[in-house]
This record gives sequence, C-alpha cells and structure tokens, in this order.
Amino acid sequence: MSTITQSPKSTELIAPPASRLRRRAVVPAVSVLIALGLTLVFGSLISHTAFVFFYPAVVLAVLFAGVEAGVIVAVAGAVLGTLLVPMRGHGGATDSTTITSALFFLVISGALAALANSVRRARTAAEETTQRLREQALELAAKQAESQSLANELERANAELERAMLSAEGARDVALAGEARMRLVDEASRVLASSLDYETTVAAVAKLAVPSFADWCTVDLLVDGEIKQLAVAHVDPVRARWARELNVKYPTTLDPTTGVPAVIRTGEPMVVSEVTDDMLAQRATDPEHLAMLRGLEIRSAMIVPMTARGRTLGALMLVSTRAARQYGDVDLSVALDLGRRAALAIDNARLYRAALAASDAKSNFLATMSHELRTPLTAIIGYEELLAEGITGPVSDEQRQQLERIRISATHLLTLIDEILLYARVEAGGEAVRFEPVVAKGVVDDAMTFVARAAAERGLTLRIEPVDPALMLRTDAGKLRQMLVNLLSNAVKFTTRGDVVIRAFARDETVAFEVRDTGIGIDREDLEHIFDPFWQVEQTTTRKIGGSGLGLAVTRRLARLLGGDVTVRSEPFVGSTFRIELPAAPATPIESRAV
Ligand code: ADP
Repeated sequence: MSTITQSPKSTELIAPPASRLRRRAVVPAVSVLIALGLTLVFGSLISHTAFVFFYPAVVLAVLFAGVEAGVIVAVAGAVLGTLLVPMRGHGGATDSTTITSALFFLVISGALAALANSVRRARTAAEETTQRLREQALELAAKQAESQSLANELERANAELERAMLSAEGARDVALAGEARMRLVDEASRVLASSLDYETTVAAVAKLAVPSFADWCTVDLLVDGEIKQLAVAHVDPVRARWARELNVKYPTTLDPTTGVPAVIRTGEPMVVSEVTDDMLAQRATDPEHLAMLRGLEIRSAMIVPMTARGRTLGALMLVSTRAARQYGDVDLSVALDLGRRAALAIDNARLYRAALAASDAKSNFLATMSHELRTPLTAIIGYEELLAEGITGPVSDEQRQQLERIRISATHLLTLIDEILLYARVEAGGEAVRFEPVVAKGVVDDAMTFVARAAAERGLTLRIEPVDPALMLRTDAGKLRQMLVNLLSNAVKFTTRGDVVIRAFARDETVAFEVRDTGIGIDREDLEHIFDPFWQVEQTTTRKIGGSGLGLAVTRRLARLLGGDVTVRSEPFVGSTFRIELPAAPATPIESRAV
C-alpha cells in the first residue's frame, strides 16, 4: 500500500504568524529606504516628481507584504516626498503644489496598491490552485500506484484462484473416476455373485470393463496346463473380431517371458503406461502378427493375475487405445481388485461344480448299493417267513425266537436302505409327485400305526389330538405319511418318558401337522444342522438308538417338493415340536422340483 504524502502548502499559507509579521515590517521599511535612496540620488534629474520612486515601492510592498505594508510605504512616501521637495530648493516647506503632489501621490498609490493587491491575490490564488493541483496530482499518482498494486494483487489472486480451480477440477475428476471405478468393481461383484456359471459371468465382467475402464479386455484361464481365452470385449466390434482372430492365429503359450503367460506363471501384475511400436515389434513373431498388433492400436495396457486361494487361475488384460487414457497405480489397484473377485467367483463355481459332481457320485453310489443290498435282504426276509411258518419243517420255540430277531434286524435294515434309496432319488430330482385330495386324519392315523408298537415298547403315551375329519388338502399322501412316520419315529426314539402327541389343523392357506414330544430336546446350535443329510447330534447316542441321519433331510426335501416346509422348536431336556406345513391346494400341480 502506498502512503499519500502531505505536500507543502504555499509559503504564505504555511508561514508562521511571527515571520509573516516580520516580513510585513521589513518589506515596507526596505521599500521606503530604497525609494528614498533613489530619490536622493536621482532627485536632481526628476525635481518635480519627488514621489516617482515611491510608486514602485508601494507596489512592491503590496505585492510582497500585503495592503497594510503598501499603506505604510505610501504614507512614508507622501511624508518623505513632501519633506524632500524644499530640500531641493523649491520654496516653502509645504507649498500648495507639494501638498497637491503628495495627495495625488497618495491617490495614485492607493489605486496602484489596490491593483497590486488584486494581482497579489490572483497570484496567491493561482499558487494555491497550482499547489492543489499538484497535491491532487500527487494524490492521483498515489491512488494510481495503489490501484496498480491492487490490480497486481487481484491478478495474483486470480491466478491463485485459477490454480485452485484447476486443482479442484482435477480432484473432482479423480473423485469421479474413483467413483466410476468403485461402481465398476461393485457391479462386477454383483454380476460375479449372480450365478455359478462362471464362463458367462466372467464374460459379462469383461464387457462391464469396456468402455469405462478399458477399450479392450480379455480374460485368459489356465486349463489343464494350457492358456484358454475365456472372454474378449472390445469397444469396436471389428477390432473385437481381430482380437479373437489374433488369439486363434497366435495362441498364447506358457513359454513367453512377458504378457499374459508371464503374469499367469509369476502371479505378478504388469503395467505398461505407454506401449511403443518397438514393444509391439518385440512381441510380434512375424510381420503379419505385427500388423495385427498395430491394427489393435494398443496405447496403454495392464495385465493382472486372477488369484484365489494362493493359486493363479488366469489373467485379466485391460488395454487402452486412447492416448488420453494411460494406466497408472490407481488403475492397477482397481484391476487387481477386479482380477481377485473374478478369480474368487471362478474358484467358487469350480468348487461348487466339483461338490455337485461328488454329491451326484455319492447319490449314484448310494442308489446302486442300496438297490443291490435290497434284493438279497428281501430274499432273507422271505425265507425267514417260510421258516417261521414251518413250511419246511417244524420250528422249535428257541428257533422261532431267533427267526424273530432275524426278521426285526432285516426289517430295520430294509427301512434304512429304503430311506437311503428315497434320499438318493430325491437328491437326483427323480422323485415323482402325485397330487390327490387327501383327508388329513386318514394320513395321521396311518402314520401312527407305524410307530405304535415302538412307542408301547418304550412305555410312551402316543396321542392324537382331535383332528377335524373334514380337514383335507391336495398333496401326495404317500410322501406326507413318510414324513409323519419320520417325525414320529424320531419323537419315539429320542423320548424316554412322557408323551408323543400329533395334531393336524388348518392355518391360513396351509394345513399344518405337528409332532410334539417330551424327549431330550435339541441345543440351539444343533437346530440349524439337523436337516443336513447324515448329520446327528450325538454320534454315540444316535448309534445306540440307531438311524442313518437321513430322516429329517428327506423330510425337508419332501416337504419342499410338495410346496411346503418343515420347521422345529426345541428346548433341551423339555422336548421338541416339529411342524410340517403344506399348501392346502397347490396353485399348479408340482410334478417334481429341485429342493
Ligand atoms: P436319524 O436317523 O439319526 O434319526 P434324522 O435326520 O431323523 O436322523 O435326525 C437327525 C438328528 O436330529 C438325530 O440324530 C437327532 O440327534 C436329532 N433329532 C431328530 N429328531 C429329534 C427329536 N424329536 N428329539 C431330539 N433330537 C432329535
């Protein structure tokens, strides 16, 4: 900031009163003395005009000391002039001519003083105006300097603002790009999680990356020691075809030391921010290969490994064909994330497929074995019956008891085999459903007869709560009975004293069947597993009691096959309540469905 300096005022304006007074005294005195001296020197030459030198003295006194000084000089001039005339020999001291001359001198001096005073005033005014103008000029110059410095400051601030705006714009662009990438990763995760068909989902992810993240994207997988291209996406359909042709004509092998093979072999990513023609020439195996690579206009590229559970399953390649998009560290981290997620999806899908294959193999094995076991077992039961009936000869009591044990064991074995067979059939989706109108009470009564003997042997009260005889539903009666028998058998098996109660009732659009016992109950953490196949709460107890661990698994699958479900409530040492809920009338007949 500039400072405005106070300019000095005119000499008169700033002169202190004492010096002004001094001037007013000195100027008239000096003027009078000079005029007197001149009159004395040149008096003889101008004898009749004794006042001639006092005129300029008056004018000078007025000009330099003001009107008062002029008046003093005029009076002094009149007196001295009047005194000087007789001295030069013109008669009496105050003759009338001398007095007239003195008066004339005073009048003229007055006029001259007035004139000189107005000149003096004009001069002072002019001086003051000049001074003011000078001051204003100085002020203006100061203001100009100030505005210049303000302008400079403004310019600097503008430049700073521009820089800030540019950096804000840059930050916004980075944030927007980051957001777009996050969206891409999110969307890719959603797509990858949507299905276990990884060939389709991985291709969808490659398409997702184009054009927001890349102009060309490929996914290569390592299958049985060979690199196979799983997906290709390109912004330009013509170049997408070239890219596929390139892979067919020059398939990637595991040998090369750079590119996809190197990334798959080492599990390390690769980023080339700027791909040069030299690099393409190095990669190309012949001129045609080089021409194809050049045609794809590769500007920047990244290859990231697709790694899951410590194994590199393949590589994801992202290529930019635009000069404006050069890959850097941020892009690499997004690409690595994409690669990891794709690998995880592929790994999960492969594991799931392997598990399905293993499960299918297990079901097939169970079905075959059960079938093979069932045939001789049926024969054993048949021959036992022949022997027991005494057709082949008399049977002693002791032999009859042994035959009875053979029958019980064989029947038990047959039940287990039938359960395994049923489970295998349901698992394979081969269980047919026959919907028909079913009277709820009829099925409940039927199921009770299957367990009545076992309940009686264990001293348990088996009870049916009154069921509305008119309560009906449309379902598969055989499967419903099978489910109820499973639940009732378990209730009897796991209850040592008390009741086993069954009831059936309508509930909204469904019919519910409930089996309640006062048995050992099931811990909360076991509840979520009891419907898993081959799962038993306590192996030792269960072994003692017997069972395959398939009863509840089969029950749940059958219930779902019929459009319903089975649920459980239980408290350890108090008892359990299992409930099957089935639609009273399924909307569309369900022939067979996966569960
Ligand atoms: P299992 O052939 O062993 O009975 P399930 O699939 O029918 O196989 O039952 C699985 C396990 O659930 C049983 O081994 C048992 O531990 C538990 N469970 C089933 N029903 C009951 C019940 N009513 N009370 C207590 N535990 C039960």
